[in-house]
Amino acid sequence: MESSVQARTELTESAYRSSHIQNGDRIAAIHQEMEYLNTIGKSFVAAIDRFQVHRALQAALQELYSFAACSILLKSDPYELSIIPCYPLSQAFLAAMIERIASASSVMDFPAVSVKELAITSYLDAPDELSLTQDQNKIGGTEIGSFLNIPLTVENRIVGMLSLFDEHEGTFDSELLKLTTMIADYAAVAFENVRLRERETALWRQAEIGRQRLELIISSMAEGLLITNERGGITLLNLSAQHLLAQARVDLKQETPLHELALSSNVSWLPRLAKIIDRALKGETVMNQELIAGEAGESVPLTLSISAAPLHDTSQAQSHPIGVVAVLNDVTANKQIEKLKDEFVSVVSHELRSPLTAIKGYTQHLVRRIERRLRKAQQEHLKLGKVVTTVDLPESYDLRSLSVVQSQADHLERLVNDLLDLSRVQWGKLHLQYSRFDLVDVLSESVRSAQASAEQHTVYLDIATQDTAIVADKLRLSQVIGNILDNAIKYSPHGGQVTVKLERQDDEYLVSITDQGIGVGQEYLDHIFERFYRVRNTASRQYSGIGLGLYVTRAIVEGHGGRIWVTNNDGLGCTFSFTVPVTGRLG
Ligand code: ADP
Repeated sequence: MESSVQARTELTESAYRSSHIQNGDRIAAIHQEMEYLNTIGKSFVAAIDRFQVHRALQAALQELYSFAACSILLKSDPYELSIIPCYPLSQAFLAAMIERIASASSVMDFPAVSVKELAITSYLDAPDELSLTQDQNKIGGTEIGSFLNIPLTVENRIVGMLSLFDEHEGTFDSELLKLTTMIADYAAVAFENVRLRERETALWRQAEIGRQRLELIISSMAEGLLITNERGGITLLNLSAQHLLAQARVDLKQETPLHELALSSNVSWLPRLAKIIDRALKGETVMNQELIAGEAGESVPLTLSISAAPLHDTSQAQSHPIGVVAVLNDVTANKQIEKLKDEFVSVVSHELRSPLTAIKGYTQHLVRRIERRLRKAQQEHLKLGKVVTTVDLPESYDLRSLSVVQSQADHLERLVNDLLDLSRVQWGKLHLQYSRFDLVDVLSESVRSAQASAEQHTVYLDIATQDTAIVADKLRLSQVIGNILDNAIKYSPHGGQVTVKLERQDDEYLVSITDQGIGVGQEYLDHIFERFYRVRNTASRQYSGIGLGLYVTRAIVEGHGGRIWVTNNDGLGCTFSFTVPVTGRLG
């Protein structure tokens, strides 16, 4: 660095300070001039910030003139005015400089700027050794003797203004104007480079801050996050995901597609995870898929709920995903609670069953005894020549009370049975007993018993098929029809028609039960088969129930290999439909 400054000084001294070239050798002069510009050019090119440009500019100009200060006014928003003194200057001199700069800038096609504004934004770029002392009035001159303004242009665009000031008159030689302008051009390009570099650095820094922030968010997320490439190979696993999938004991984060990794490892849940990722890679958004990622044999193994979505590159027209982003949630605690709840329901329903059986048995026994007593009392009255109806006898009151006990016990028994069935479904123990029977018999019996309990309703049976034989679990199918019929009556409090229709469709029967009741809101249609689900408007005391019937019903239908669904009838009631194969497992 020092040697290049030295070289430059030697060159300029011989080229310009002595304006009288001794031997008049023009070629040597041109050569020297080029070398000079080359040296200056290099120092501008080497400048990596605006202060280094200032230093290069000041040094180059000082080779031409001995002057008090120069300034650079750059056309950025707001204006940037840098004042570079060559030696300490008085405050008055600086103020006079700013005034001259303001008036020169208006001549040079700059948008208007006031002296006050310039004074606020001005920046004194003085090396330490030039730092202005307290008593500034004693230093330098107070008035401007001569000055020079040169536009700074880049590709014919004015980007700023270079101004040179001196307290003496006639400092700036018109002979050197061309060379000064060339230096200004170098400086303009150097400033533009610095500006572009600063912008690039700022953008890079911004992007880097964004990246770091995103990394921090991802790594501190409680949910596990997994990102794959377009082939399904994991490229990112945040800390939570690493923790959740730790039981794999395989390095999951590698370019190999998950489905290939699943083939070569013996981790039981890896194929399922790979399947979820592959579905998302095909463009599907997969929601809340359960994955048991714990050790087999644990009472409640680690269970994850996984949602995965395809990643699309919005800048590209192609629709194929460039990867998948999946979120992993640990739902083991929920599973534990569910398990406790199921165990509780199972235990309680079993415990309720024994007293209930006793209540039903003894009530039945009492009913029979009272009926016997009634008959006896009637006969004794007859012997005495009196004809009495059972209603007139005191025992008939006891009988009515007992029949209320019986019907409430039946209701309780249905609830307990539903709870027991819930446990069976939960534990996969809803075993079906297949036999061959006539579906019409089951339907007629169900319709008959429903009609018996519903005075306000008319229950129709519509058989639209000749052949009605079936192989299925008779008791369970009658439970299905009974549940749907009970609901049809319960949820049409103003009575009306209930129609049970049987049709045959290829290898299955289609049973549909239509009522004229309150119907099911569109938004609830998908939910009413969930356990303990009750539509809000029915979850009141007006309609007793616990939201289990349809859950068990669906389990029975699906256990037979059928389907069940519900549709709303325009404003009046709804239709529950289910299919059941003609020949079950016996066929
Ligand atoms: P429960 O009747 O004991 O509440 P279910 O599982 O049988 O439980 O039914 C679940 C919910 O579905 C009911 O609470 C009710 O909101 C709705 N539902 C069932 N059947 C009907 C129907 N025929 N009409 C209107 N809503 C019904």
